[in-house]
Formats: sequence, structure tokens, C-alpha cells
Amino acid sequence: MRQHVQVLIIGAGAAGSAAAYALARRGLNVRLLEQFQIGHTRGSSFGPSRIFRLAYEEPDYAGLARAALESWRSLEREAEQQLYWRTGGLDLGPAGTPSLEAVHTSLTAIDAAPERLSRRELARRYPQWRVPADWEAVYSPEAGIVSPDVTLRVLTDLARHHGAQVLEGVAALEIEPGRQPAVLTGAGTLTCDHLIVAAGAWMPRLVPQLRTSLSVTLAASSFYRPDDLAAFQPERFPVFITHDEFQAYGFPVFGLPGVKLGVDVVRPITSGDDRSFEVPAQVGEASDTFMRRFLPGALTVMERSTCLITRAPGGDFILAAHPDCPQITLASPCSGHGFKFTPLLGELLAAHALGEGHPWQLPRFGLPAQAVDTAQGGPAAAGA
Ligand SMILES: Cc1cc2nc3c(=O)[nH]c(=O)nc-3n(C[C@H](O)[C@H](O)[C@H](O)COP(=O)(O)OP(=O)(O)OC[C@H]3O[C@@H](n4cnc5c(N)ncnc54)[C@H](O)[C@@H]3O)c2cc1C
Repeated sequence: MRQHVQVLIIGAGAAGSAAAYALARRGLNVRLLEQFQIGHTRGSSFGPSRIFRLAYEEPDYAGLARAALESWRSLEREAEQQLYWRTGGLDLGPAGTPSLEAVHTSLTAIDAAPERLSRRELARRYPQWRVPADWEAVYSPEAGIVSPDVTLRVLTDLARHHGAQVLEGVAALEIEPGRQPAVLTGAGTLTCDHLIVAAGAWMPRLVPQLRTSLSVTLAASSFYRPDDLAAFQPERFPVFITHDEFQAYGFPVFGLPGVKLGVDVVRPITSGDDRSFEVPAQVGEASDTFMRRFLPGALTVMERSTCLITRAPGGDFILAAHPDCPQITLASPCSGHGFKFTPLLGELLAAHALGEGHPWQLPRFGLPAQAVDTAQGGPAAAGA
């Protein structure tokens, strides 16, 4: 059986769901394929919380996040539901750390009203924290929480409402580039005017040209039950990121009665199909040590979970045409920080698929050089 649609999208994670919503809302005939179920826990877009922040070292990402906030607000209006919870954010580290300074500079550049907090001021406002004498913090008021669990449900419901067909349990087995790209599935072949591949950790399998540029690694989060639950509620405990020997990031109590912590200490290489669900011992140990040292009011481990991060070179995103086929858009907006942009990414992908420009289609989202070399049969292809 062969069917044709205007836009076919592979992958109902953050990127694919947002693209399906944006395109269906514009009246396109859209089909979204998901190999598992919406909200499954094998990829990157699940769980109660992701950090929303403007606090980037790079001013263009800070500006992108501000534009994304507008997109979250319009999605909230259409969904008639809250999707962004403002908590404020803390970037913490030894005073003078270059990345901390850069965050302050870029927040100032976009008029985001950052506040420098001395250790003493930090202790007064947020007594949950114990930091060394030489530390300070940068507070940013617009940081907060967005939720993969809630957002994916809203985006796919709205996409369906606007006429998109969302098929769960249907895997794309093979892609055939062409003027009308074709996708082979277990239930037959689909052709389309435009294909968006937003397959997260499975991108390298579906698009071999990306194998040398994308790396898939296992990450983990830990949840800690606080002694005083009230002290770690979103109104009293901002989301945070540390700038120290390794990056740690965390959340107030939200969705689960525990403080959530992630630490970037090891990056075990894996793939969408061969990954483990076991939390690496080093991650568990570093997380517990971090809590004992900095947040001693929340030490009881409630649960830990694993998640996949697909990184593009430089920690950037790929939102670009397939090297061999302009009718295919490749979307890999992860690198461990993509969720906060979700509704804006949908708009960017819709514009790309329709051949339109978009003010936030940044040059840094282009295809990495290795992928172009591979497509042209250069050195990277020889190793593939
Ligand atoms: C531990 C962790 C913490 C993070 N923290 C933050 C944060 O605080 N703030 C932030 O902004 N971002 C954060 N991120 C990043 C963010 O979660 C990702 O940017 C985002 O979820 C990526 O979504 P995606 O759609 O690209 O990929 P995925 O969510 O993985 O979606 C890809 C989908 O494609 C499907 N698929 C793959 N192959 C096929 C196929 N052949 N056929 C059909 N379907 C297929 C998969 O099943 C999957 O559902 C974090 C990520 C992790 C893992």
C-alpha cells in the first residue's frame, strides 16, 4: 500500500511533535510517525521537567530563548493550559568564572535584568544552599520549568485537532530521498512532498550522513526527598546550574515530591537501540556528593532515571536540509539543552519545510562539515 501526504514527520519527540502542530495549524496535510508511544521513556523528551532559561553564554541562544518564551505563551493560549512555570534561575560558581561572567554579560545584553548575588545575599534569599566562601550567583528572573510530559501530550492533541494523523507504534524503516521522498514502514510505503526527520538518538541510523557528526550518550537524573518539602517548592527554590569542575543542574519539587538533579560527569557513548537503563555508578556518586556538599536539606534518594542525549558539534542543533535532498529537513535539536525551545523549533521546522525564511534560523544550525563531506564522498565517508 502506498499513500501520499504533504508533510511526513518521523519521530514524535519534542521536535517532531512541535513541527506536526505548527504545520497542521497552518492547514497542511501532516502525518507524524512514532515508533513507540507518545511520551515513552526511551528517548529524550519525557519526564516532569526541563529547565527554561535565558542564561546562555552565547547571546544568540539567549535571544532564541527569549523568542521561545513568546512561542510558549502562544501555545499556552491555544492549549488553555499552563506550560511554563516561572521559578527564577541561579547560575552559581566561583566568582569570576569566565562562563559565569559570560552568562551575566549575555543576560545584560538582552535586558534580562540579571542580579549578582554575593554568597551572603544567596544565603539570605536561598538558605537551602551551602556554597564555598569564594562563590557567587547570577539570578535571572525569567528562568523556569517546562514539562516534556505535559508538552508532548498538548502538542500531539493539538496537532490531531488541526487534522494531523499521529501514528504510534509505527517505525520508519528506511528513507528514500527524491523529489517526493518515500518512507518505508511495516505498514507500507508513504510518500510526501516534504519529509522531516526528527528521530533523536535514532538519527544516525536513519541518516547515515550524520553518523560522524552526532554522538549519543547516556545521561541520568536523581530525585531527592527534602526534609522540609515547603523549602524546595518552586516559589522558594529556583532552577539552577553550576559552573564548577563539572556542570550540575537542578529543579525545585515539581511533578514529583523531590528535588531533581543532573550532573555532567561522564558521557557513556551509546545508541537508541543498544542503550542501557542503568544509571552509571559515577553519576550516582557525584550526584549524592553534590547534594551533601551544597544542598544538605535534601539527601534521601527517591529514584534515578536515564535519558539519551544526542549531541551535534559545538553543542549546537541541526535544523537543515538533507545533504542529498532539499525535500528532507533534518532536525536534531538536543545537545542536552533543546527542550526549552520546543514550540519555536516547531515554527522553525515548519518554515524550513515550506521553503520560507525565519528570523531565528541561525547559521549555527546548518549541517556540520563532516556530514557534507560524507554526502560528497569525502574522508568521513571512507570511515563510515
Ligand atoms: C537528562 C536530560 C536532561 C535535559 N535537560 C534539559 C533541560 O533542562 N532543558 C532543555 O532545554 N533541554 C534539556 N534536555 C534536552 C531535551 O530534552 C532535548 O533537546 C529534546 O527532548 C530532544 O527532542 P527530540 O525530539 O530531538 O528527540 P526525542 O525526544 O528523542 O524524539 C525522537 C523521537 O523519534 C522517535 N523515532 C526514532 N526513530 C524512529 C523511527 N525510525 N520511526 C519512528 N519514530 C522514530 C523516537 O522514538 C522518539 O520518540 C535534556 C535532555 C536529557 C536527556
